[in-house]
Amino acid sequence: MRHKEEIRVSRVYNFSAGPAVLPEEVLQEAAAEMMDYKGSGMSVMEMSHRSKWFDDIIKDAEKDLRELMNIPDNYKVLFLQGGASQFFAEVPMNLMKNKKAGYIITGQWAKKAFAEAKIYGDAVELASSADETFSYIPDCSDLPITDDMDYVYICENNTIYGTKYKKLPNTKGKNLVADVSSCFLSEPVDVSKYAVIYGGVQKNVGPAGVVIAIIREDLITDDCLPGTPTMLKWKTQADNDSLYNTPPCYGIYICGKVFKWLKKMGGLSVMKERNEEKAKILYDFLDQSKLFKGTVRKEDRSLMNVPFVTGDAELDAKFVKEATAAGFVNLKGHRTVGGMRASIYNAMPKEGVEKLVEFMKKFEEENA
Ligand SMILES: *Cc1c(COP(=O)(O)O)cnc(C)c1O
Repeated sequence: MRHKEEIRVSRVYNFSAGPAVLPEEVLQEAAAEMMDYKGSGMSVMEMSHRSKWFDDIIKDAEKDLRELMNIPDNYKVLFLQGGASQFFAEVPMNLMKNKKAGYIITGQWAKKAFAEAKIYGDAVELASSADETFSYIPDCSDLPITDDMDYVYICENNTIYGTKYKKLPNTKGKNLVADVSSCFLSEPVDVSKYAVIYGGVQKNVGPAGVVIAIIREDLITDDCLPGTPTMLKWKTQADNDSLYNTPPCYGIYICGKVFKWLKKMGGLSVMKERNEEKAKILYDFLDQSKLFKGTVRKEDRSLMNVPFVTGDAELDAKFVKEATAAGFVNLKGHRTVGGMRASIYNAMPKEGVEKLVEFMKKFEEENA
């Protein structure tokens, strides 16, 4: 073996909404295995997706995810590509048998999924929080769902606006499809309440390039909309255990490591407690601050994405600049909303949030 060189690193507190912070342990393990994965003499990036090594990687990843989320046996787990955005089209292509579906519009990602579905059929807006810049989750107890709708669609955690459903909508017996990109594995979920759960992993789980979809088996059929590409039929992917073509091998490998890390941490109930504790530190500070304000209705606040403002665009910019210089990076709000946003996913340590709050306090004193 050639000798390894020490790499000196300096890490920041990365509050990016995505691609986002990953557990340091996972990165270190991946670094250690980079040149020679388990005696193969290759990196996982360099090996066949049909090799024994990769077969173990993808099977282990699925097994660990099933354990973490307690996924019932009648659900398939697929590792796909194309980002959550491609899945916006896959949902109607695979599910719109009646060519009609209901969408709840809680932000940009729900809006984009809705617009995509309209290409394929009659997508109906069931509720929306657009009237108040998506700062809340609309009442979903009695939605105008009709019998001929194939499914009801939600974006469960709204990455840009920082809202999260605390209770799933009453779908009146219709299949629920949820984009969970930015809350994936942040807390336990009852998979059986959903027909389809999916997300791009680059927010809370792994590197960009992988979409994980958990789909109830009876919904995986050959009966897709005419013209659905082979690759976008869930049946193709399910029949081939996500290996119809070359999957995003390296991304799946890192996701698998994150699943093992989550199991070691104690699983999703422990993650939920940790996430609640971290979010509370930041929200409690925002609630008493005279300078910073949270932008979301309290009962709908996300544990993962925390948007806030000073109310003055120049002061916001000054804050972002000084925070960056102090090692708190990617705090600028989404380009469509401005202000700031701290994404505090699973891998953000509590210490990162505490230090950010200390920095905000200091900034508030200096700019009062
Ligand atoms: C980031 C994000 C998307 C888009 O994901 P891509 O993988 O870039 O297509 C969709 N939905 C939600 C909730 C997101 O946070």
